[in-house]
Amino acid sequence: MTVFEDLESEVRSYCRNWPVVFDTAKGSRLTDVDGNSYLDFFGGAGALNYGHNPEVLKGPLLEYFQRDGITHGLDMYTTAKGEFLHTFEDVILKPRGLDYKVQFPGPTGANAVESALKLARKITGKEALINFTNAFHGMTLGALSVTGNSMKRGGAGIPLVHSTPMPFDNYFDGKFPDFLWFEKVLDDAGSSLNDPAAVIVETVQGEGGLNPARIEWLQGLRDLCTRKGLLMIVDDVQMGCGRTGPFFSFEIAGIQPDIVTISKSISGYGLPMALVLIKPEYDQWGPGEHNGTFRGNNPAFVTATHTLRHWWSDDVLERDTLRKGEKIEEAFAKIVKDTTGTTECFQKGRGMARGIQFDEEGLAEKVAAKAFEHRLLLETAGPDDEVLKLLPPLTTSDDELDEGLAIIAESVRTVTGS
Ligand SMILES: *Cc1c(COP(=O)(O)O)cnc(C)c1O
Repeated sequence: MTVFEDLESEVRSYCRNWPVVFDTAKGSRLTDVDGNSYLDFFGGAGALNYGHNPEVLKGPLLEYFQRDGITHGLDMYTTAKGEFLHTFEDVILKPRGLDYKVQFPGPTGANAVESALKLARKITGKEALINFTNAFHGMTLGALSVTGNSMKRGGAGIPLVHSTPMPFDNYFDGKFPDFLWFEKVLDDAGSSLNDPAAVIVETVQGEGGLNPARIEWLQGLRDLCTRKGLLMIVDDVQMGCGRTGPFFSFEIAGIQPDIVTISKSISGYGLPMALVLIKPEYDQWGPGEHNGTFRGNNPAFVTATHTLRHWWSDDVLERDTLRKGEKIEEAFAKIVKDTTGTTECFQKGRGMARGIQFDEEGLAEKVAAKAFEHRLLLETAGPDDEVLKLLPPLTTSDDELDEGLAIIAESVRTVTGS
């Protein structure tokens, strides 16, 4: 392991919690160099919704390489991109009655967010933005400026400006009407709020600690944006691609954002790929005004196309995700109940994005460390890493889900002494 410690930058992080060398992976399991098998409820931070190396995608991918299909294509027209666009329109957009133009930014979530923010500013001619408490939108400067976490913001090394935070849903535990402050400062000529171009929001905050916004809150935000002339950007990088059940996490609210960012699981294979979806009237880019060398990652287009065909041509995966989400919810309810009197915790999340928040400092991290001793990969989230976070592949079998949930229950028991 010394080559990593000797040569790789101190910036490395996940590997510090899981100090083994992984070699192969399939479905919801990884195998290390010593042949030990690990159950993966981390799911590539949301990039592996269909598990590791899914067979249904591997075949077409190998075939594509075998016939020397375009690998690197900038934004040239290619068969792989054409097939993806056709499939995305037929399988995702049309059945949902959605009308969006598709932009391929550089292949990361942060790149999609940067594009969305630039475009919103270009459309409106305004520079100010509204973000929400505990938001996470990526690590580049624009994305960091709308991100909540003070440690991550600190890494910027310069002031992060031009965005004003508003309370996310439940920030005051329901003590104030939704958008009380937001609407007040928007309307008040004396509030000093800079006139905003757009809001950027996650429907369930992933890195922020699995905080779900209620349907009414999302509808209220859409309504407020429409009334006040703000563009609504939904960052669906982590909660999109079926993580909460439906393909887009905002579908349950019946709303249509003006701009949507998608990345993480869109390729289905863990290959880098990102999309910005833009209402046609807002597609005001000039040619090349936002670009990126790797925005035409064609092998990712191939696996993305097959992902949509295989998992999104019917509602089987969506229903299964909701069912498995309920199963996790039940298991978590039991854990919360069993710890009553020993430690304070509660659960939150939606679909198969779930977490348990522990009041006691450091407890969530201890549970994750204990789970790793039992060969289960789990991460923590929230501003103080107070939330034990579950993002198992959506394709995790019921048996594997039971196995992982039992490890979590056992780890909580051991760590809390309950
Ligand atoms: C992961 C994430 C990003 C950033 O994506 P990268 O690919 O890491 O740049 C942006 N927004 C949300 C909601 C994310 O979860």
